[in-house]
Amino acid sequence: MPENLLVRCTACGALNRVPVARIERGEDPACGRCKVKLAVCEPAAVTDASFADEVERSEIPVLVDMWAEWCGPCRYLAPIVDQIAHEMAGRVRVLKLNVDENPATASRFDIRGIPALLIFKNGREVDRIVGAQPKSAILRRLEALVQASSSMT
Ligand SMILES: [Zn+2]
Repeated sequence: MPENLLVRCTACGALNRVPVARIERGEDPACGRCKVKLAVCEPAAVTDASFADEVERSEIPVLVDMWAEWCGPCRYLAPIVDQIAHEMAGRVRVLKLNVDENPATASRFDIRGIPALLIFKNGREVDRIVGAQPKSAILRRLEALVQASSSMT
């Protein structure tokens, strides 16, 4: 079982190692450096610079919401992504990547249409959901992947 989550503090940029057990207990740990709450259940922003640390080195599966300001379906999907982040807290980490501000990652993963939800496990993309989908459909895809990972350990 993965035990820690790497969470970058949005206030000071420090990388924090947060025990998954604390998140599962519903705690909201604070940054070790600046003491600001890390808001681990909120979908945090990930960038070209932090992608490797927060997505590819994550010990638990990560859902990355690829979005942009001008994209209407992205705005429709945003509250759904937010709910998924809370419901899957400690099991799946949910991050958001603005494709206009982070073109390197968007082109590396060949993002042609948004919204696109990319699911990563052990640093590799294992699933991709393109277009706005109902929450139940997204959760089904996520649950299948999370269960597959726990049965391997
Ligand atoms: Zn901090």
